[in-house]
Amino acid sequence: MLDKASFPRDKICGDAIPSPTLRHLARLDAAYAPELRELLAPHRADTTFSRLLAPNGRALRIQWHNPACNSPRLHFDAALLTLVRRHTATEVLENYAVRKLEADTEGVTVWPADPAREPLRAALVIGCDGANSVVYRQLAPPARLNRAYQCAAVRAYYQGVGEAPENTSDFYFLQEFRAGYCWVFPVGNGVYNVGFGALSEEIAYRRLDLKQVLHDLLTKHPQLAPRFAQAIQLTPITGFGLPLGGSGRPVHGGRWLLCGDAAALIDPLQGHGIDKAVHSGILAAQQAQRSFQAARFDADYLAEYARQVERHIGRELARRYRFMRFLAGKAWLVNLAVEAARWPWLRQKLVRAVG
Ligand SMILES: Cc1cc2nc3c(=O)[nH]c(=O)nc-3n(C[C@H](O)[C@H](O)[C@H](O)COP(=O)(O)OP(=O)(O)OC[C@H]3O[C@@H](n4cnc5c(N)ncnc54)[C@H](O)[C@@H]3O)c2cc1C
Repeated sequence: MLDKASFPRDKICGDAIPSPTLRHLARLDAAYAPELRELLAPHRADTTFSRLLAPNGRALRIQWHNPACNSPRLHFDAALLTLVRRHTATEVLENYAVRKLEADTEGVTVWPADPAREPLRAALVIGCDGANSVVYRQLAPPARLNRAYQCAAVRAYYQGVGEAPENTSDFYFLQEFRAGYCWVFPVGNGVYNVGFGALSEEIAYRRLDLKQVLHDLLTKHPQLAPRFAQAIQLTPITGFGLPLGGSGRPVHGGRWLLCGDAAALIDPLQGHGIDKAVHSGILAAQQAQRSFQAARFDADYLAEYARQVERHIGRELARRYRFMRFLAGKAWLVNLAVEAARWPWLRQKLVRAVG
């Protein structure tokens, strides 16, 4: 396993760990979920509620039944790596940035950015290298960035946020943006991950400066500004891209597979991708096992991985992408949905729809 970073390392994120993440890890090994919770005990907020704040200011509080938590990626990702080291014989190479990959019929050569490090040869490469994946850019057929399937988001950490229970994640939907939202997520120890994300299409068209948008929201929005009047900003506002699911990005080829953001598997409705990264990672590991047993690494054989991703993840993401597009720009519909959710039956439907 190679990573350009050395852990613990930060990753720009909202830090909401979707509940399926722990379920997927538990399928790998029953010890993983409880061990992870223990490792994260000093650095997490257990979240039982979400508050959806409609553009008209009305709020809907949803109670979740499955355990979920928020935890800074600085700690969460390091805890995952601890599990890998404790439970597997994986060789982990940190500070190994991949610059170039060359696939041939016999294998893949992986070239490091640092000339002092050795190039490597692999039978199969699984690209889990995020939104700017070098594996995707070098081994998949060239494709232009499609801003309709891309989001960008910014975030910073704050403390001293008003009206902020430690068990509740807040989502603010805003009249002036077609899709996307502003979030206030507790991450433990009185710290909040606060951010804003929108479709890249809209960001480019309106030439939005997301850092400025977040700053304006926290100082001027009628509900957010009072909550942030006494807040202390702990880190600079920083941003990163989110490749959305439903785009049909190829996830395999001869001797390579893609997972997580590299495979564009982020939920277009919520902007969550940690659970999909873990799930696709498990599917890729299963494919690797089949491939080594059959000694087959060609594109035809690896296509089974693409079918599995489509069946278990892709179809649902494509449906949620269509739903996100349907809601985009319809602030009145979000207002209506939050109003209607006061009736338990409709509330159940809404909770199921947003997931
Ligand atoms: C602002 C923002 C908020 C978000 N909020 C949430 C949220 O609250 N909940 C949620 O579930 N998802 C959220 N997401 C999405 C989530 O961050 C990603 O879906 C998730 O991190 C994907 O995991 P991954 O392992 O595919 O990629 P990453 O987490 O990006 O990991 C990629 C790894 O590859 C390494 N790497 C990259 N390039 C190279 C290279 N050339 N050589 C070697 N190593 C390399 C990196 O160091 C990194 O460790 C958010 C994203 C953004 C940008």
